[in-house]
Amino acid sequence: MTPIPLQSRLPRTYRIKAIKQETEMVRTFTFDGSLGAKPGQFIMVWMPGVDEVPMSVAEDDGAQTRITFFAVGDMTNEFAKLQVGDLAGLRGPFGTHYEWEPGQHIVLVAGGYGAAPMYFVAKETVGHGCTLEVIVGARGKEHLLFVKELEALPHVSLHIATNDGSAGYKGFNTDILEKLLSSCPRDSHSAKKKECHPVDQVFGCGPEMMLKKISEITAKYDVPSQLSMERYMKCGYGLCGNCVIDPLGIRMCVEGPVVKNEVLLKLAEFGKYHRDDLGKKNSFDAPPKK
Ligand SMILES: Cc1cc2nc3c(=O)[nH]c(=O)nc-3n(C[C@H](O)[C@H](O)[C@H](O)COP(=O)(O)OP(=O)(O)OC[C@H]3O[C@@H](n4cnc5c(N)ncnc54)[C@H](O)[C@@H]3O)c2cc1C
Repeated sequence: MTPIPLQSRLPRTYRIKAIKQETEMVRTFTFDGSLGAKPGQFIMVWMPGVDEVPMSVAEDDGAQTRITFFAVGDMTNEFAKLQVGDLAGLRGPFGTHYEWEPGQHIVLVAGGYGAAPMYFVAKETVGHGCTLEVIVGARGKEHLLFVKELEALPHVSLHIATNDGSAGYKGFNTDILEKLLSSCPRDSHSAKKKECHPVDQVFGCGPEMMLKKISEITAKYDVPSQLSMERYMKCGYGLCGNCVIDPLGIRMCVEGPVVKNEVLLKLAEFGKYHRDDLGKKNSFDAPPKK
């Protein structure tokens, strides 16, 4: 594990350079300055007097940093009120990132705000000669994120899935994943004869039940996958232990959030429950707390 420099563990102020209203509840803030983040890593976003919360990096191009967030609660609703020119405290980057080899054929599966980090991965991987199948899913077409940006990238085949069928395939994005993997299994005759293009890896970011399904599908077709698993994070660099996972005791802010499927398959709580700010277990089946 690479030690996290003190400078990254303390918040520094960054000015908001641009704001994009993506959908009714989702905004993208562009900050003036880079934190040196890699695709899949997260930063802690601080509003003095309100709260500090983790957010995935939607892009870090060495000059500016983007985050895309849903206004869902106390912190994010206040954060959404900020304007261009305002300051926010950012610290990081923290955690693991997606890993690939140049020239690989990779499937990216995105749900919800997971489309933002998946766009960051897409931009970096196509720059390394990778070819991509990108599957973006949402409840309906008005909730789809980063579609235009993904369409503009070279070597990307874009697939859309909506639950209500208002755009693309009607159903789950994981149905499309299964079709892609079953159409060219890695050890099939067609793949060996190069008649089809087998998938080298699958990356996923989005709701945990979607990740669970990706984990099952990629295990079934024996394709490696790396998935971003979120837990309640406080310190962000492994000190407080709030995001420790049963039964391995790994910290999601250090050994995650991007975790390889062989490790995820050993995690008893993956797809079953998560712990809140007090360490209390909450089932993914339970209705959200009011
Ligand atoms: C690694 C990681 C990356 C994330 N990336 C994004 C992103 O790119 N965009 C985005 O919109 N959201 C992201 N989130 C979720 C985001 O942190 C929460 O939506 C946010 O904290 C909500 O805070 P709130 O005070 O507005 O809402 P609250 O009403 O306080 O919380 C709403 C829900 O958000 C979650 N949450 C709250 N605080 C935390 C915390 N400290 N750590 C983890 N979850 C928390 C809980 O599930 C809670 O039930 C990410 C979370 C993690 C762990």
